[in-house]
Amino acid sequence: MRIRVSLGTLATLKVGYARTDALPGIAYIMQYSDVGCSALCSFCSQSFAFNTRKDTLSRVIWPEMELSVFIDLLRSSNIQRVCLQTIIKKGFIEEAHHIVRALSRTGAKVSLSITPIPSAELVSFKKEGVDYLGVGLDSASKHTMEKILKPYGWELYWTFISEGVKIFGRRKVVTHLIVGVGESPIDLLDTITRLRDEGSEVSLFSFTPLKGSLMERLKRPLMRYYRFIQLATYLIMKGYEWKEFVTMRKGRLYIRKKYVENEEVLYSALMTRGCPGCNRPFYNESPREEPYNFPSKAIIEDWKTVLRTELNDIFID
Ligand code: SF4
Repeated sequence: MRIRVSLGTLATLKVGYARTDALPGIAYIMQYSDVGCSALCSFCSQSFAFNTRKDTLSRVIWPEMELSVFIDLLRSSNIQRVCLQTIIKKGFIEEAHHIVRALSRTGAKVSLSITPIPSAELVSFKKEGVDYLGVGLDSASKHTMEKILKPYGWELYWTFISEGVKIFGRRKVVTHLIVGVGESPIDLLDTITRLRDEGSEVSLFSFTPLKGSLMERLKRPLMRYYRFIQLATYLIMKGYEWKEFVTMRKGRLYIRKKYVENEEVLYSALMTRGCPGCNRPFYNESPREEPYNFPSKAIIEDWKTVLRTELNDIFID
């Protein structure tokens, strides 16, 4: 059986090169299909409908490999967790079970990122060793979800998230949101709050225009907007209500300074959010650019001067 393995993961497994201060914290693999996923999500390179490279997801390259070869590499590595990204294709659930069982036999912990499936399947995945569930809600409102052509519909995703929390436990479901696909900031603040209240964790991605996809002409989100959402997510997940700490001045949203205790807390809010150890290095930007999500503290150090200026523009007394 063939799978795809992210280039950064191959570097960690010593079959490639990457910056040593930004290696993936876990291994990222994806189901393989030469034609891609049968859904139509308009931002995604895996959709069968677009003339995009099928060895990519976001801007990351995912070379193909035999599952058995990957399992051997995993056994001789220090990697503790594998994230399996599924795609929709004939028999993908059965195939995902097979991959999860093979990963679990190595002793690795398994995170599974999957579109809505019946609860009984989630129970089986849990028995097979999955301990974290990833859900690509991707959009912050029903309207945005329809615009980006996600399958299954808004309500079914929320039912799936809540079933996932019942089965895996609170904070063991990580819901992915893409910032910059046409939502309003208020949609995001409300959706992040609803996810917290449902018991889900939140993982933020920045929209990345991909050549050949339906959204290739849309621009990436402004860094100020992204930083604002990162800081707001941090505060919402800490238990604050966004209406307490967000204020508007001359048409711009700000965060009240008093809600952030110190500079180090600020920077930790800019790190990649996800399952334990997940850092997804350079998922949304090239290593030469300022990261939307920081994969390591060392890289935050490189960007501290720029970050201070950016963050000063978000806070207000
Ligand atoms: S379901 Fe997932 S993999 Fe398939 S097109 Fe949508 S985002 Fe891409």
